[in-house]
Amino acid sequence: MSEEDYPKKKDQHIRFMFEGVSVRGELVQLEQTWKKLLGRHHYPDSVKSTLGEALAATVLLSSALKFDGNLTFQIQGDGALRLVVIQVSSQGHIRGLARWEGDVVSGNMNDKMGDARIVITIANKDREKPYQAIVPVMGETLTDCIQHYFDSSVQIPTKLYLAVDKKQVGGMLIQRLPDETEDKECHDEDWSRIQILTKTVKDKELLELEPEELLYRLFHDEHVGIVASDPIVFACSCSSERIETTIKSLGQAEVISIIDEMGSVEVRCEFCNKAYHYNRSDADRLFDSVSVEENPTVH
Ligand SMILES: [Zn+2]
Repeated sequence: MSEEDYPKKKDQHIRFMFEGVSVRGELVQLEQTWKKLLGRHHYPDSVKSTLGEALAATVLLSSALKFDGNLTFQIQGDGALRLVVIQVSSQGHIRGLARWEGDVVSGNMNDKMGDARIVITIANKDREKPYQAIVPVMGETLTDCIQHYFDSSVQIPTKLYLAVDKKQVGGMLIQRLPDETEDKECHDEDWSRIQILTKTVKDKELLELEPEELLYRLFHDEHVGIVASDPIVFACSCSSERIETTIKSLGQAEVISIIDEMGSVEVRCEFCNKAYHYNRSDADRLFDSVSVEENPTVH
């Protein structure tokens, strides 16, 4: 089957609401994005599962934590799986990668990542200082860890579910909204009913069902409707300007010495694998345009 014949499901992020119930929901299903992300590196299965969960979770978080700019979701650890990073822009452009060393065992988060933490960073266009939240990795799964973040930091009643297989990733989130009326008991009842219904969702349903069908299967006695659907695409924001900043940080002497030895400097973007090359005249241009006080190394 060629890529063209492959039955394409839309990569999208859906928001849904319940009529008369103060709960909102989100659903994400990604197939092409997941395929592209996996195509960049040969990840072992035990890495793929965490990377896929992080991918779905980041999209869900991007709507739960409103922003205009970039959201970066990182899990950093001292285990065999050292880093998982996913970055999404408010336009729905997403990229990500994982770094590991040796054998990553299948198992719970701490088995894979050792002593680990989740770092969520939001860089808003109109704000100088980024928002950052750091959550220790505790629990069996990434879902448990993010659930812990919502319970401890966001403090808005939220539940989320994530699912991954070789072909796709999926996720669902429900969040209680501020009550519009005084009847607290009724709202508590609504929230607990929607939670019970959502909890029945199976991984296979999250991954394979069309959004309308999935919502009907879970909530057919409720009045639920899709209010927005945004496309998500794999896109890398690397650029020659950014790569040049990295090259400059190496220092002129180091860069020239690599070029003398190898003919050119190659810097590869870890997210999309694009290679950037710099030869001697590029280096001269780069270092002429910066005024750094450097002590040239004497050979
Ligand atoms: Zn790139």
